[in-house]
Amino acid sequence: MAPTHARPIVALAGGVGAARFLRGLVEAVPAEQVAAVVNTGDDAEFYGVHVSPDLDIVTYTLADRVNRERGYGIEGDSFGVVDALGALGHETWFRLGDRDFATCLHRTGRLRAGAGLAAVTDEIRRAFGVAVRIVPMSEDPCPTYVEFEGGRRVHFEEYLARDGAPGDVRGVDLAAARAARPAPGVTELLRAAETILVCPSNPVVSIGPILALPGLREAIAASGAPVVGVSPIVGGAPVKGPADRLLRGVGIEVSARGVAGLYRDWLHGFVIDARDSEQAAEVGALGLRAVVTDTIMRDRGAAAALARTALELAAQLR
Ligand code: GDP
Repeated sequence: MAPTHARPIVALAGGVGAARFLRGLVEAVPAEQVAAVVNTGDDAEFYGVHVSPDLDIVTYTLADRVNRERGYGIEGDSFGVVDALGALGHETWFRLGDRDFATCLHRTGRLRAGAGLAAVTDEIRRAFGVAVRIVPMSEDPCPTYVEFEGGRRVHFEEYLARDGAPGDVRGVDLAAARAARPAPGVTELLRAAETILVCPSNPVVSIGPILALPGLREAIAASGAPVVGVSPIVGGAPVKGPADRLLRGVGIEVSARGVAGLYRDWLHGFVIDARDSEQAAEVGALGLRAVVTDTIMRDRGAAAALARTALELAAQLR
């Protein structure tokens, strides 16, 4: 057990990549010492309920309840509610499972009763038996919009789940996050952090919204903690998901070096994949300490090894 006075290890997190990394991190350090500050730029209302995709992916994964194949949703869930809504004429491209629906229904009811998203998220993670603190980045609505030629724009979930993540992205609008307040506890956690980790998450639509919040960068700097990230780009491509299309859409090279350049103002150390070892010197030239290892989290053991590498790099940078 960690002494209760241990300063927190704070991880900036998106969805699937982050959740897998966090599951490894809790093999390396006591779960009670870990706090995840999670993107809410993907949050939206579907079927009358408040859906928080990344918060729930992280919660379900750490609870060992996630659908492993998909990386989101609850293992063994059924889809009776969305299918019944479909029969009533609703659009059902957002496939929310029945048990997942219950989480969102609970969240919606608590928010309507006046509870904050941070408190409700904490209730949900405790109900799922998760010891890691899970904190939404903000309680204000922070929808991320993906932009296309001609000024057309869609909510990130429409882009991903409805439209299948097309490649002709021209930009990403994080204006809502830029005008939002960090959730209660977020800047305090960062300022108190012993180590700040940046999960292998989508740099544009998962880490981008968190860093866009007013005061976030200042809180990171004020912590004096080493800030270490893991590259979500391996061998010039994302391991999964549309990070390549979004990076290109905002004019960033799809590579470990491209992501390092995006993070360079506030990141100190970067873990990159062995397949990208030739980029280590360039990452170093950006002023970051680079470490090369296998970053593919094929199972919990691999995720734990990756987390240990990130923690060792942080210890060297302290
Ligand atoms: P999303 O909600 O699925 O977009 O979740 P995240 O934002 O957390 O993560 C997406 C990113 O995680 C993608 O860019 C993936 O390439 C990256 N990712 C997923 N699994 C792995 C892995 O095993 N290793 C590394 N290095 N990156 C990963």
